[in-house]
Amino acid sequence: MDEKIYLDYAATTPVDSRVLDVMMPYFSASFGNPSSVHRYGQIAEAAIDSAREKVAAALNCRPDEIVFTSCGTESDNLALRGAALAMREKTGANWIITSKVEHHAVSKTAGQLEKHYGFQAEWLDVNEYGMVTPDAVEKAICDQTALVSVMYANNEIGTINPIKEIAEICRKNNILFHTDAVQAAAYLPVDVQILGVDLLSLGGHKLYGPKGVGALYVRKGAQILPSQTGGGQENGLRAGTQNVPYIVGFAEALRLAVEERQQRTAHVKPLCDRIIGTVLEMIPDSKLTGHIEYRLPNHASFAFKDVDGNLLLTLLDAAGFACSSGSACKTGNPEPSEVMLAIGLAREWGLGSLRVTLGMNTTPADVDSFLKALPVLVAQARKLATDKRG
Ligand SMILES: *Cc1c(COP(=O)(O)O)cnc(C)c1O
Repeated sequence: MDEKIYLDYAATTPVDSRVLDVMMPYFSASFGNPSSVHRYGQIAEAAIDSAREKVAAALNCRPDEIVFTSCGTESDNLALRGAALAMREKTGANWIITSKVEHHAVSKTAGQLEKHYGFQAEWLDVNEYGMVTPDAVEKAICDQTALVSVMYANNEIGTINPIKEIAEICRKNNILFHTDAVQAAAYLPVDVQILGVDLLSLGGHKLYGPKGVGALYVRKGAQILPSQTGGGQENGLRAGTQNVPYIVGFAEALRLAVEERQQRTAHVKPLCDRIIGTVLEMIPDSKLTGHIEYRLPNHASFAFKDVDGNLLLTLLDAAGFACSSGSACKTGNPEPSEVMLAIGLAREWGLGSLRVTLGMNTTPADVDSFLKALPVLVAQARKLATDKRG
């Protein structure tokens, strides 16, 4: 194997060279602390201000509604913990509604609020496509609900949730609504006025920005408590000297994602459709996971019956293809993921999941070689599993 083909853009993306270019000066020549009064500080502060305006333009909100954080995970933590604690203080409400297919950044935070902070969490079921229905949200809401958190698009199976409809229900009931848009923002519209959300999480490295930076949109009037306390940075909501180069890079990456959304979609969607069509046709006992239509345009995910997903990943890697079996953090875990269980897959299917995610650099030739290799490798993984069972 000499050529490697990266098909794991949902795990992370390379930094766009245009993004890297705008970041570079802030590591060296313009290194000031944005909180300093002198010129060095003013230059860094101006860079943060302009990044904030860029992000606000991308989301169609006010610059002072943007809080820069250290990653998508931190944005989710700040949203959930911050909103839950502030709402309970204000109204006494102590229920959190979320779904069974959230990223761990949301589900573990809700779990901690339940276990250690005295909140009650309700974990909404999803349908067979991994979708949270507005109806399920409406039924779960009660006068003790402090917050609803439902992801915009799922990282493991690509399914897009009806965020606008869910947001309407929450607004009607005066409940804060948070969405994790870390995966979605690379391809879906993130106009927060159209979506109607109160809180929205973003991360840099899923959209050709750097790792270690993110943002949380906090609608004006929505009260949240900071989860990191200290200096008054970020409107008092996220203490700590801002990571100027990363924030500058993140803002540019998001701007480019919005500006180039149509081109990027037009590039990945046909390639992705070809993968889905060919896999389902060529590989026996295979199914698509997630929704066929309401899914991220660069996202193909499958379940193969009687295949060890981790073994398949290893075979793929040896053949030069970098894919995933779901969330990157789950590799090595021999149980089907929570998402596979939530969409109702039996164990013999749920263990054999494969996620193939495309990006700006994916070529038709990459897809050809992948589609040539995969059926053989799935058959090999199946045979190995059968031999092992003996
Ligand atoms: C990647 C991801 C996160 C975590 O973002 P980090 O920036 O890696 O912390 C959260 N939610 C979803 C849906 C993701 O895909």
